[in-house]
Amino acid sequence: MIFISKFLPYGKQCIDQEDIDAVADVLSEDFITQGPKITEFEEEIAKYVGAKYGVAFNSGTSALHGAYFALGLDKGDEMITTPNTFVATANAGLYLGAKVNFCDVEKQTGNIDASKLEANENTKLITPVHYSGNPVNLKEIADIAEDNDARIIEDGAHALGAKYNGKKIGSLKYSEMAMFSFHPVKHITTGEGGIIVTNDEEYYERLQLFRSHGITKNNLVNPRDGDWYYEMQHLGFNYRITDIQCALGLSQLKKLDSFVENRRKIAEKYNGMFEDNPYFDVVKENPDGESAYHLYPILLKEKYANHKKEIFSKLRSEGLGVQVHYIPVYLQPYYQNLGFNKGLCPVDEEFYKRELSIPMYPTLTDEDLEFVQEKLYKVFSEY
Ligand SMILES: *Cc1c(COP(=O)(O)O)cnc(C)c1O
Repeated sequence: MIFISKFLPYGKQCIDQEDIDAVADVLSEDFITQGPKITEFEEEIAKYVGAKYGVAFNSGTSALHGAYFALGLDKGDEMITTPNTFVATANAGLYLGAKVNFCDVEKQTGNIDASKLEANENTKLITPVHYSGNPVNLKEIADIAEDNDARIIEDGAHALGAKYNGKKIGSLKYSEMAMFSFHPVKHITTGEGGIIVTNDEEYYERLQLFRSHGITKNNLVNPRDGDWYYEMQHLGFNYRITDIQCALGLSQLKKLDSFVENRRKIAEKYNGMFEDNPYFDVVKENPDGESAYHLYPILLKEKYANHKKEIFSKLRSEGLGVQVHYIPVYLQPYYQNLGFNKGLCPVDEEFYKRELSIPMYPTLTDEDLEFVQEKLYKVFSEY
C-alpha cells in the first residue's frame, strides 16, 4: 500500500480545463507570439485595475526594469525601496546604474514605514511594495515624494485586486506606474509574465520600445529608407511575452475576482481561528484598504521566533509548506558587497526573524485550514 501524505504549499496556481483549452486553441492561430492576445490581455488588465494603458512583459522583473527605464532612472539617480521584498524590486534599479536605498518597515504589517522615509533632491524614484497584498499608505508616501520631486512606481506583485481608499491598486492616483506579476504563485498566472500599467502616453511608448530591443517604426530619427525600415533608438531587450501566455492570462483573468474573494474569505477564517493564540500575531489589514492576500504571514512571538529554524523544518515534515518572506534584500551577499551593513533596517530584521508564510491560495478547503491550525499548534506547543 502506498501512503500519500498531505502537503499544502504556501501558494500555488489554479488552472482548470477552460485555461488549458484557451492555451491549446491559440496554438493553431496564425500568431503564437506578438499577436492579438497580447493587446487584448493588456487592455483587460488595465481596465480591471482602472488604468489607461498596459504593457505586458515576460516577467514581473523585466516589467520593473522597463518601468524604471521609462521613468528615466539612470546612473547617478537614487531610488528608495523596502528591504521586505523579492530582490527584483531593488535589482531593477541596479540594472540601470542607479543607487538603491532602503527604508525600514512597519512592525505590524511589514510594509514600508512612511514615517521613516527620507527622500532628498537626488531621489528620483520611490518603489513601495504592497507586502502580502496589504496596501501601503500611498497618500503619505506621495506627500514625501512630492516634497522631493520624486516619482512613485508601485510594485503590486502581491496586490492584484487589492484596494486603497476604495480604488484598485493600479488606478494610479498617487503613482506613475504599477507592476503586477503573473508568476504561478501570484493571483493569476501566465507561467512567467508581468505587466506595467500607466496613464501616461510617453511612458507607454517607452515601455513598448524597451521590451522589444528599443526598435521602432515610428518617430524616426533618420529619413525612412523604405517600407522595411526600422530604427533602434535605445538599448532595449527582448522582454516580450507570447500570445500563448496571454491566452492563459485572459482565461485566468475571468476568475480573478473569485480568486481574490476566496483569498479574503480564507484570511477572515484564519483571523478568527488564530485570535488570541499564544504563539504568533497576524498581519493587520490597512484600515484604508483591502488586502488581496497574496500571502498570509504570521509573526512568531519571541520565544518561538528564537526556534524558527527547527519550527520551519518540523512544519515542513508535518506537511505544511511554510515559507519565509523575505530575507532583507540588503543582507544578500551581492548587496553586502555594495556596502550595506546589518542593522540598516532593524524593524525589518526583526520582522524577518519572526515571519512565516502559511498556505494561502483560493482552493484551500475548510478541512485544509483545520489541518494548518492543527499542525501549527502541534509544533508550537513543543516549545
Ligand atoms: C514575484 C515578485 C516580483 C517579480 O516578479 P517575477 O514575475 O517573478 O519576475 C517582484 N516583486 C515582488 C514583490 C514579487 O513578489
